[in-house]
Amino acid sequence: MKLNKNFNNLTENYLFAEVAERTKKYADAHPDKKIIKLGIGDVTLPLVPAVIKAMHEAVDDMSSSETFKGYGPYEGYSFLRQSIKNYYAGFGVDVEEDEIFVNDGAKSALANILDLFGKDNVVLVTDPVYPVYVDTNVIDGRKVILADATEENGFLPMPDYSVKADIIYICSPNNPTGAAYTEAQLAAWVDYALKCGAVILYDAAYECFIEDETFVRSIFAVEGAKRCAIELCSFSKTAGFTGTRCGYTVVPKGIESDGMNLNKTWFRRQATKFNGVSYIVQKGAAAVYTEEGKAQIKKNIDYYKRNAKLIADCMDRLGIWYTGGKNSPYIWLKCPHGMDSWQFFDYLLNNAQVVGTPGVGFGKNGEGFFRLTAFGSEKLTEEAIARIEKLLSE
Ligand code: PLP
Repeated sequence: MKLNKNFNNLTENYLFAEVAERTKKYADAHPDKKIIKLGIGDVTLPLVPAVIKAMHEAVDDMSSSETFKGYGPYEGYSFLRQSIKNYYAGFGVDVEEDEIFVNDGAKSALANILDLFGKDNVVLVTDPVYPVYVDTNVIDGRKVILADATEENGFLPMPDYSVKADIIYICSPNNPTGAAYTEAQLAAWVDYALKCGAVILYDAAYECFIEDETFVRSIFAVEGAKRCAIELCSFSKTAGFTGTRCGYTVVPKGIESDGMNLNKTWFRRQATKFNGVSYIVQKGAAAVYTEEGKAQIKKNIDYYKRNAKLIADCMDRLGIWYTGGKNSPYIWLKCPHGMDSWQFFDYLLNNAQVVGTPGVGFGKNGEGFFRLTAFGSEKLTEEAIARIEKLLSE
């Protein structure tokens, strides 16, 4: 047998291991100090009651032969796909039920969708970037090129027509930078993709944090996107499903290449390699769209948004440059006093006992930047902010 040697081309990402190691070392040396972690990208609030109730009922369904469910549809149950379709209709975007494919979350969907594309495609990602986009393509052996996201462009690079790409990743609101493209900026990317004959893989994992009208919740709000984009979304951040696992992909029916239809090919791929998401989890996900579920989830998202605002307001008071904080759970700040990302990490840990994520771990352009997240508890976020403000005002 021969192994896939492309695995040797992955660069080891020590980011979170290094964060954990430095934090542990400090904690061991200072057992009396209370460390607050604002580095995690995981949610902390539990599933809302409407989701729990729906999942309990679904468990009961499994207990009787009249309501028991075996294998479900590869593409997801109609009750959930209809709810997703109605959700899109709620903000004026028309997607068909047979364009929606339910899956076990955006990370695996991002990897699996690559089955659709040949290895000779050139992939364009932003730098800094969510590492999954790069690593999944490196494993397949595709060439990955970078679009520089910098302070100058507000961490929102725009298309460069001198660069030819076939697969373009856009994540908005962005992890790690929190920056979100406006509708007009996305329209420029759609234009570019249409002109290059490229596909946009649009990661909308954080769309639920959008509140301003200049930003869209879906790339399909942009004219022409249904001819060039696939959207990947997740219940992880919207409804706290990081441990429950559910997401969906929207593959428009209108995209054709080399005589193949993307939607049909994706269905074929799923039918071959995937046996669907558990009925119980899909019932829980569908409860997210009930009136009760929507109200409860809004409360949770508002809670995280308040944390984001607390952090962003603190940066404003300190005069620190940042992106995100609004329309995003991430605050991407410029390390003060010219510190690099790891210097600032150590400075915060040693002097305020606050842990964040060094920006350089997401790409070379992340050097000198730092990510804080709004997914912690309100009380701890307040305390962390008070400590940071005191330290940086000294
Ligand atoms: N996309 C982005 C940009 C993310 O930040 C994450 C998780 O942090 C994911 C996708 C993965 O989400 P899921 O939990 O649905 O796999």
